[in-house]
Amino acid sequence: MKRQIIRFSTANFNVMTKTLKESGKDESFVYGLFSKAQSPDCEIYICRQLMLPDKNELKNQSCVSIEPDKKYQITSYGLAYDQGLSIIDTHTHPFSTNARFSSIDDSYGIENAKYIAKKFPEDCTMGMIVLGNGFDNFEAHIWNRKKKNFVPVNRIEILGAPTKILMNNRKSKVKSNDAYARHCIIPGWNQELLEDLKVFVCGLGGNGALIFDSLLALGIGGKNDWIRTCDPDVLEASNLPRIPYAYPEEVGMPKADIAQLHADNKTPKLNVRCYNEDVKESKMQNIIKEANIIIGAVDNDGARQLLNGLASRYMIPYIDIGTEIIPEGLAYEAIGQIQTFVPCQTGCLICSGAINPATAAMDMMNEEGNAAYERAGYVRGTNETPTPSVLHLNGVVSHLAISQFLRLIFNDGFRGKEYLHYNRQTATMMSASVEQNNDCPACGLKGYLGAGDEDEAELEDLSDLKDSKAFEKMKV
Ligand SMILES: [Zn+2]
Ligand SMILES: [Zn+2]
Repeated sequence: MKRQIIRFSTANFNVMTKTLKESGKDESFVYGLFSKAQSPDCEIYICRQLMLPDKNELKNQSCVSIEPDKKYQITSYGLAYDQGLSIIDTHTHPFSTNARFSSIDDSYGIENAKYIAKKFPEDCTMGMIVLGNGFDNFEAHIWNRKKKNFVPVNRIEILGAPTKILMNNRKSKVKSNDAYARHCIIPGWNQELLEDLKVFVCGLGGNGALIFDSLLALGIGGKNDWIRTCDPDVLEASNLPRIPYAYPEEVGMPKADIAQLHADNKTPKLNVRCYNEDVKESKMQNIIKEANIIIGAVDNDGARQLLNGLASRYMIPYIDIGTEIIPEGLAYEAIGQIQTFVPCQTGCLICSGAINPATAAMDMMNEEGNAAYERAGYVRGTNETPTPSVLHLNGVVSHLAISQFLRLIFNDGFRGKEYLHYNRQTATMMSASVEQNNDCPACGLKGYLGAGDEDEAELEDLSDLKDSKAFEKMKV
């Protein structure tokens, strides 16, 4: 049985809890429409749209009861039906710090779940969340249409700045391993959050290796989570100076195997898997769906565009790193940049122009096409034309990326600085904000933000579904 996960963007979750809080000591209620993603181990429900109620759309509201008004329910169910989305309702128990469904919640839930199972497209189902006082404790379940019962959700992910992972049945706080004792005394540090995260690193070259090593040092993969990483290349002698944990006798071995060996020796308790695979493989993309943060240390726009698309589709913050040394006569430019795309909070790499669509398309071409471009001198950094690189530039930039990673999840003054540019020759750093572009094909109104596994062909613009035809047909 796959584990059930509910995922919100931080922006959506904040809007939802702001509305729920307006009811003060009374219970409150919000419908959300959710897309779905299948990873090897999990079914993930991703909040695509919130249906915030007006005051008059809730009835019987008191400190121990709440009900959605029929019209509000029909509108929400109608939109879910039209778009083939699941519907998950969230209500509050302000009187409890250990929220549990009541028998009334249960009977109401089963009735609606059976209705949806009967009338809705096959992939749609119904789920419920109850949030206790403080919104950090919950109970949640999703209706399994085949088994005809509710399956518990023990993880709610709130991804963005700040990131929160709510775990049900959390064991009493585990005292952090002494290895992190010096981290835990940094004000605002949250070791528990780090140990609850799932982080995917794409690429184990000069930047990726340092990122990977830093994540091990932070204890990611310690408890309810993992580190996963992939790279299809083997170690070459010229990589040795930039991968601190690689040794001369390992030349010719897959970079992923060397990274795995390193993790197993240095941090055997962490849950780490390194795959000797290309991110273009669907196997890798299915694992990425489960990630809470993607870090891309890749050297081409094709892979960047792919990761940017997955981030948008599955609402996963994505940190992209690039370094470049550009010879100019006898001098050179040495630069690094880090851009963080936080779905629903910032623009993506297409919004910022960081990805060149023509280069990206070329990168995704088959080998034959690539070889032709390579011969024509269009492709940088092949075996025949290696790009210059050196450890200290990778070091500065990948550790800046780790710094951005921590600023993001702890919301440590992150917003407005989602783009960083480092120039080694002038010893300067520039930061900037990346605004979302509504016309963006990835994260804009006609894009696929939060669409989950839904086919691109079936995606509809959410902005003009207000006159949904199904509304009137529905009887709930
Ligand atoms: Zn209740
Ligand atoms: Zn965009």
